[in-house]
Amino acid sequence: MFGGTPRWNAAGHLYPEEKDARRGGPGEHRAGGRIAHRRQGLETYFVETWGCQMNVLDSQRLEGVLQSLGLRPAERSEDADVALLNTCSVREKAAHKVLSRLGELRKAMQSGGKPEVVGLCGCVAEQDGAALLSRSSVLSFVLGPGQIGQLPAALESVADGRRVNMTGFPTAPDYEPHLIARGTGSRQLVTVIHGCNQHCTFCVVPYTRGRENSRALSDIVAEVRTLVACGAKEITLLGQTVNAYRCPATGADLSELLEAVGAIDGLWRIQFLTSHPAFFTEEFVERIASIPRLGTYLHVPFQSGSDDVLKRMHRGYTRERYLALIERLNASRPEINLSTDVIVGFPGETDEDFQATLDVVSRVRFGQLYGFIYSPRPRTPAARYDGRVPRAVASERLEHLFGVQYAIQLELNQALIGRRIEILMDGPAKRGSGVWQGRGADNRVVNVPAWDGIREGELVRVKVAGATAHALIGEAVERESSAA
Ligand code: SAM
Repeated sequence: MFGGTPRWNAAGHLYPEEKDARRGGPGEHRAGGRIAHRRQGLETYFVETWGCQMNVLDSQRLEGVLQSLGLRPAERSEDADVALLNTCSVREKAAHKVLSRLGELRKAMQSGGKPEVVGLCGCVAEQDGAALLSRSSVLSFVLGPGQIGQLPAALESVADGRRVNMTGFPTAPDYEPHLIARGTGSRQLVTVIHGCNQHCTFCVVPYTRGRENSRALSDIVAEVRTLVACGAKEITLLGQTVNAYRCPATGADLSELLEAVGAIDGLWRIQFLTSHPAFFTEEFVERIASIPRLGTYLHVPFQSGSDDVLKRMHRGYTRERYLALIERLNASRPEINLSTDVIVGFPGETDEDFQATLDVVSRVRFGQLYGFIYSPRPRTPAARYDGRVPRAVASERLEHLFGVQYAIQLELNQALIGRRIEILMDGPAKRGSGVWQGRGADNRVVNVPAWDGIREGELVRVKVAGATAHALIGEAVERESSAA
C-alpha cells in the first residue's frame, strides 16, 4: 500500500521516478495501457467532472492514472486525444447532460478529429453504461467508479478495436493514493469509506457505488501525512455515509480517525462529509467536540421535516430525533455551522409535509442548504411510488424554501460582522475583479480585496466588515508572512 514518503512534487503531480516506476510496474493492465496509448499516438487528455466532491476526487484519480501512462492534460475535451466524462446520476438532469455532451463531442470529432477516444466514467457509466455504449458510437469505453484502476486496460481494448464496458465493484477497492493527480490546492479530499449501504428509497448511489467498504485508518493517516508534507492545509474526509466509517483492521470509528488525523502537525483543519443523522451517537458527538483542528462546519442532510415522508424515504430517523441531534451538536460546539440537503416534491409530499420541512429549517437555522426537486431514479423504490407531485408545485416549494433559507443565512452572516476570523485563501472570487475568496473553519465564503502577492493557500486573519446571504465580506488584518 501507500508509504509515508511524499511522492508528489510541489505541483501535486507524480514525481517522474514514480511515473517511471509505475510505467515499468508489474501491473499487466498498466503495461498494456502504456502500449495501447503509444500504439494509438495518444498524448493528451481532459477529464470533465460533474457532481459531488467524491467525483472531484475520482477525476483526480483518473488523471493520475493517465499521467502515470505519460499523457499530459489538455485545456478541454475538444483539444484532447482522450476525453473522459466523469458523470453523476443522482438526479435525472445530470444524466441527460451526458447525452447532449456526447452529441457535442461527436461534432468536434467530425470537424476537428478530436477527441479520438471518449470514455464514459462515473455513476452514469455504472448505471446506463451498457445501453449508452450500444446507443452512442462516439463512446470508446465505459468505466464505472469501482473500476478506475482498469483505465489502462480500457485504453488497451480501444487500441485493439474493442469497445468495453467495465463496471461492477471489486471486493477490495482499487484506491491508490500515490496515483492521484491532486494539483497544488491547499484543500484536499481523501476518501475514507467507499460505497453506501443505506438504500434510501430515492437514492441511486448504492447501485452506482456499491456496498460500504472502509479503508484502514493507518493508510488514511499515512495519506494525510503525505498531503500535509506536500503543502495541504485542509483535509476533507469523504464518504457517502462518512460516519459509518469502521477501520477494517482495528474497528476504530470516525471519531478515532478524526483524532488520529487531527494530531498531524502542519494540518490547519479537518472536515468530513457527508454525515447521516441516524449514525450519530451521543458518545460520537461528545468525542468530536474536543478534537484539535476539527472544522466547525457540519453537513447533516435531513431531506424532509415530515415523519411520513422520512418513513417512505427509509431514512431511519424521525423529525424529533433529528432535532434532538441538532440540539446536542449545538450544545457541544456552539460555533458550529450546520448545512443540510432537502428534497421537495417527494412522492406523496403534501402541503402539510412541506410546512413541516420549512419548520425544521426555521428552527435549526442552517448556515447553508442544498435543495433539490425529487427526481425519480432507475431501480430505486421511490420511482415506483404513487403520488407524483406536479413539477410546478415542486418548483414553487423549492423557491419558497430558498426564500426562507436565504433570509436566515443573511441574518446568521450579519451576526458575524465585527468578528475576527482566520481564513484560508482559495483564489479570485467569481464575481468582481480585485476580490479574492477564502473560507474559515466554518466553511463560510469570505471575500476580501486582493493585495499584491496574494496567493492560494495563504492563511489570513480578517475582520468581517459586511455580509450577504451567500458570503461574508472581510478586511485583511494580518497575513501569514506580514502584518497588514
Ligand atoms: N449520502 C448522502 C445522504 O444520503 O445523506 C448524500 C447523497 S446524494 C449524493 C446528495 C444529495 O442529493 C442527497 O442528500 C439528496 O438530498 C439529493 N438526492 C439524492 N437522490 C435524489 C433524487 N432522486 N432526487 C432529488 N435529490 C436527490
